[in-house]
This record gives sequence, structure tokens and C-alpha cells, in this order.
Amino acid sequence: MNQQPAGKKKVLSMKEDLLRLPVKPGEKPHLVGTRCHNCGEYTQGVRVVCQKCFSDDVEEVVLSNRGKLTNFVVVRVPAPSWKGPIPYPLGEVTLPENVVVMTQIIGAEIDDIKVGQEMELAVEKAIEDEEGNDIMAFRWKPVAGKEAA
Ligand SMILES: [Zn+2]
Repeated sequence: MNQQPAGKKKVLSMKEDLLRLPVKPGEKPHLVGTRCHNCGEYTQGVRVVCQKCFSDDVEEVVLSNRGKLTNFVVVRVPAPSWKGPIPYPLGEVTLPENVVVMTQIIGAEIDDIKVGQEMELAVEKAIEDEEGNDIMAFRWKPVAGKEAA
């Protein structure tokens, strides 16, 4: 990693084993997953064994940054650590790899959210840590111009 000048704010992923931020210009943030060579199953995040067949013949992969909204709920009583708006929509998006990724939906009014909608990965600042660094989290955002059929 690059040496950061003292006092300069850093932009960090909230969870390195789930979300990777770009390290070079032109790169995009992406979700991290694991693919099993034994059974073909994909899972979210970095794993050392397959969650389905328990094989350790797994590799880290880049997951798709788009998927379909398969379910969502409106959270009115969030966890005490929650720093975002209340209420907020929490969406389950199923990726082409058949991985379900749950997180907050941004960029949409709650009334406009529809199951079946195309969603894409978005990254926003969730909190600032004690050193003033921006801690980034992943969100779902509706793909512009695409409506549920
Ligand atoms: Zn497996």
C-alpha cells in the first residue's frame, strides 16, 4: 500500500473482506466473494472453506456489481450503532452468481422501491473513525431508467 502523508485523511473500506475500494485510477469498488472449485457455490466475503460442501478448495473472486432486488424491508428501529436515516430501506439483492447481498438501499424513495428492480453497487461514507478517516460502506442503488416489469 502507498505511504500516506501524516495527517492526510484516508478512505477505508468498512470491511475489507466484503468490499474492496479502488487502489488505482480507473478501478471500481467491488464486492468480494468466494467460489468453491468442488461444488461451484459462490458466497459473499472471503472464506477459507465452502459454506455448502466444506471443501477448502476455494478462491477469492470479484462478485458482480449488479443484481435483482429479491426482497426488502423498511427498518424503523435500527441497531443502536446505526448512523444513517430512519426509517431506511434494507434490500436483498440476488447477484448472477446466486449470492444474496443485503444492505441499505440509497437513491430511492421507499414508496418507489419494487421487488424485481435492477440494483447496482454504490459506495458511500458511512462514518468517520477516530483519526478522521472516511469509512466507506456498500449500498444498493436502483439502476437508472430500469423499472420492474
Ligand atoms: Zn463447495
